Amino acid sequence: MNIGVLALQGAVAEHIRSIRLAGGQGIEVKRTEQLADIDGLIIPGGESTTIGKLMRKYDFIEAIKQFSEAGKPIFGTCAGLIVLAKQLDSGEEPHLKLMDMTVSRNAFGRQRESFETDLEVKGIDTPIRAVFIRAPLIREVGAQVDILSTYEGEIVTARQGHLLASSYHPELTDDYRLHQYFIEMARERGSS
Ligand code: GLN
Repeated sequence: MNIGVLALQGAVAEHIRSIRLAGGQGIEVKRTEQLADIDGLIIPGGESTTIGKLMRKYDFIEAIKQFSEAGKPIFGTCAGLIVLAKQLDSGEEPHLKLMDMTVSRNAFGRQRESFETDLEVKGIDTPIRAVFIRAPLIREVGAQVDILSTYEGEIVTARQGHLLASSYHPELTDDYRLHQYFIEMARERGSS
């Protein structure tokens, strides 16, 4: 499977590495034309306002919406999750508005800017290692969204059909099972 990583800003190389470890082909996506060559797209962590700005500048908003309409899987991690959301509870303008959820940015406050934990994720047999950095939380989800994990009662992993989102960085550890899970989503879509 060819898995693209949106390479406008943020943790791109780390995702490419995890995709490789998980048995996929990782591709840095810098131009909209490249979306035609990939089976799934990861929107990495970084700074969502910056990623959103660059997506508008390089025409990625419409292009990624079309990619999604074709049923191709998209995985947003941390800032990438914010970019996928239909709504931001800060009242800021949302970006792609693809996934039916309301998201809070920087939801853990200053005391817990960054931490690691083991997290149970539905569909993965044992807990995965998750790194949270100035992470967002999913406050509310629509009826079509499946909650895959919570941390201290708050939603941190969710899936809506071909869309996957995590509050944390799964690419900053050697545990690549969430990437494997995503590659499986791309494979299922390809064979359906
Ligand atoms: N705090 C960042 C934002 O709001 C996200 C942090 C991250 O991706 N690690 O965009």
